[in-house]
Amino acid sequence: MGELLADHTTLRLGGPADRFLTHTDPAAWPDLTHTAVGGDAAPFVLGGGSNTLANDTGYPGTVIRMATRGVTVRPLGSDLVEVVVQAGEPLGSLVAFTVAEGLSGIEYLGGIPGTTGAAPVQNTGAYGQQISDTLTRLTVYDWNLGRARELRPADCDFGYRTSRFKTQPGRLTILNVGLRLARHTCASPIRYQHLADALAVRLGARPPLAEAAQAVLADRHNRGLSLPTCGPDARQAGSVFLNPPITHAQATAIRAAGGPVHSSPNGTLRASAGWLLEQTGFDPGIRVAPGVYCSQGRALTLTARDDATAASFTTALEVLADAVLTMHRIRLRSEPVQPNRMCLWRVGPGSGDG
Ligand SMILES: Cc1cc2nc3c(=O)[nH]c(=O)nc-3n(C[C@H](O)[C@H](O)[C@H](O)COP(=O)(O)OP(=O)(O)OC[C@H]3O[C@@H](n4cnc5c(N)ncnc54)[C@H](O)[C@@H]3O)c2cc1C
Repeated sequence: MGELLADHTTLRLGGPADRFLTHTDPAAWPDLTHTAVGGDAAPFVLGGGSNTLANDTGYPGTVIRMATRGVTVRPLGSDLVEVVVQAGEPLGSLVAFTVAEGLSGIEYLGGIPGTTGAAPVQNTGAYGQQISDTLTRLTVYDWNLGRARELRPADCDFGYRTSRFKTQPGRLTILNVGLRLARHTCASPIRYQHLADALAVRLGARPPLAEAAQAVLADRHNRGLSLPTCGPDARQAGSVFLNPPITHAQATAIRAAGGPVHSSPNGTLRASAGWLLEQTGFDPGIRVAPGVYCSQGRALTLTARDDATAASFTTALEVLADAVLTMHRIRLRSEPVQPNRMCLWRVGPGSGDG
């Protein structure tokens, strides 16, 4: 039997991959791409597996786990540097490294599991910061063209928890990324009220860099946003739904009911998926489907327990989304990626550039 995806995802769900390759040496990438191509499905690229719901039947093709490590720092003049990071570098280690080096720009992304190469895929973000804020360029392998190319952030269609890597699944593999960071003893201005409260400062304040990074880790721990190494919530993929876009009328109704409404710089209003769920009566700790529970800390995180399967996890997602749709007339979109739904195109030339 092939390598089980359950052994490579934080939900610890998922059957075998037809073929499983681990990418550790950037110089060996061209050889690896030749080995990977073949069969009916596009290769599925895996980072830390913290945002992946792998199917019980596994993956009918090659899975490539990105495990390249390495960070280099290049001065850009003045107090700016460009940090070039290999895709397999854990995001948490990168944040810790940059804070220790006195580099500001990603300090609020500490404590998020997974790899740096996966972060641009859903434009991973937290506490008012997202990876696209500091990206300078990305080296990607284009499976359609069969070669590596460089992308600028403007090429990537970044938005709230989305990018072209998400909307064109499987086409582009991120090999390394460049980030522009500033040498500063202070953190970036705080844009997240909850964190400002935790640090007893006002929005827009710039607390000391290390203190801000530490406060994020402590706050994540207190609010059940960290990945425990053991216990009932150890098998999870973080929040299971994105904050949905809503109309002005829905925003008014939610505010009237005491719920939060977030507004993006582009004017899009979003409800809090967690708040919507709580209104439907799904409290922390509740069982939603066989082996699948809302986590002890929050309803928006689903955890897998002993008899959970990817199928029961999917059922749980449907149960929660249906409850919100029935009560609020708002459709939730799930956040974790399901590899078997990604085979939308075939490897090979002639499928167009862009
Ligand atoms: C406890 C917990 C807390 C979390 N908190 C947050 C949070 O605060 N904010 C947030 O945004 N997310 C959060 N997440 C979700 C997740 O950790 C992030 O989205 C993370 O960036 C995913 O990284 P990964 O390496 O684990 O991705 P994976 O699950 O391995 O992959 C996710 C997707 O990216 C693709 N991918 C992976 N690597 C590459 C690559 N090199 N090139 C191209 N595609 C690639 C995969 O094919 C898949 O489609 C949390 C998850 C957990 C478990």
